[in-house]
Amino acid sequence: MTRRLFRSHCAVALAVFLASVALIMGVLYGYFSRIQQTQLRMQTQLAAQGVERCGLDYFDGLTVRDCRITWIDGSGAVLYDSAADANAMENHLEREEVRRALASGYGESRRYSATLTERMLYAAQRLSDGTVLRLAIAQSTVLTMLLGMGQGLAAVAFIALLLSAVMARRAARRIVEPINALDLDEPLKNEGYDEIAPLLSRLDSQQKQLRDQTQMRREFTANVSHELKTPLHVISGYAELIQNGMVSQEDIRPFAGKIYDGTQQMAKLLEDITSLSRLDEGATDMRFERTDLYAAAASAVEELRPMAEKAGVSLRLTGGAAPMEGIPALLRSIVFNLVENGVKYGHAGGTVQVQVELGPEQVLLTVRDDGPGIPAEQQEYIFERFYRGEKSHCKDIPGTGLGLSIVKHAALVHHARIGLESEPGKGTTVTVTFPLTKES
Ligand code: ADP
Repeated sequence: MTRRLFRSHCAVALAVFLASVALIMGVLYGYFSRIQQTQLRMQTQLAAQGVERCGLDYFDGLTVRDCRITWIDGSGAVLYDSAADANAMENHLEREEVRRALASGYGESRRYSATLTERMLYAAQRLSDGTVLRLAIAQSTVLTMLLGMGQGLAAVAFIALLLSAVMARRAARRIVEPINALDLDEPLKNEGYDEIAPLLSRLDSQQKQLRDQTQMRREFTANVSHELKTPLHVISGYAELIQNGMVSQEDIRPFAGKIYDGTQQMAKLLEDITSLSRLDEGATDMRFERTDLYAAAASAVEELRPMAEKAGVSLRLTGGAAPMEGIPALLRSIVFNLVENGVKYGHAGGTVQVQVELGPEQVLLTVRDDGPGIPAEQQEYIFERFYRGEKSHCKDIPGTGLGLSIVKHAALVHHARIGLESEPGKGTTVTVTFPLTKES
């Protein structure tokens, strides 16, 4: 964090520094150029007066520093030059400042001098005899100014860097300290800055989820052990009696039957738990495919027919082909669990009717029985895991309390809606409406 802040502080400091240098250089350059120009003009006028009075003698013993002085006659021939041999110099009539001075009395120009290999500022003054006196000084460029200010600039850059480091360290500390002091056990009680409020509320909801999941897992484990205990006691009790030789020959068969029922109950419990946990994981190992709900219903009904016959309940399937997108195993399991309940809780002579209807936008499954019905106060719980109606326990009807949870989750995977109508003494009707969309 400190390094990142340092980098961004440095970038800002450098940008400000460069912008300031560019701005200051621009302003200073313009300012100094104007001063230089004014001074050159004054010096040219002064020297012109001197040459006007003394002629060539003016240059005798003249020491010229940081400046070049040239005297040119009206035809452009150089009469005197402080920096070069006048005789060897070319005609200066075409020099811009000379032309201007000859035309208007005074002229200026700037250009690169081949003689001095520098950028020069020239000022020329016409004398009364028609000759021209010219002064030239080297014009300082931005680069030379920058080089001149090099040390100062380096010092400023160093200070900016140092300040960036100190500020980055302080800022990092001020940001990190409240984060380190957060109470993660109770995220919403922290009064940090507003920016981390979304993080804290996400943390809080994740913790709640985790607590709920832990609670659910605990309840699940307790329920599973409870549901396993009953058949296990039956199995071990009867097996022990047989083992100790305390059972008469004719009782052995019914006792073995009890043991078999117990194992069946345990197997059913394990089967239901496996189905539910697959559904909890989103049934990711199952694929949607083109299937037919009527075919799934027919298969479930046929499997349950022997059980229904044994219980004296008649099973009826009506409707017709209902092609849809779905997971065949889950569709079958929905019908199976609903019909099995109708048979299980129904009475001898009763009827369970299964109907599959294909509509323009939906497929409707209806399972109707004329059994005991479900009391209104129990109806909101029957789709919960391990919930079993009191009567189911009392009448010793086998079950795991997971059947309707499986129905609920399997319907959810298909985006289907479940409806329940039940009246004690009259029967129960469960409807499952599957929308005919791409996913369903
Ligand atoms: P299980 O049948 O194994 O007990 P379910 O989840 O299938 O578990 O059903 C939960 C409870 O709902 C049952 O114990 C029963 O009390 C009640 N129930 C479900 N279907 C019917 C029905 N068709 N008629 C009467 N009661 C029912």
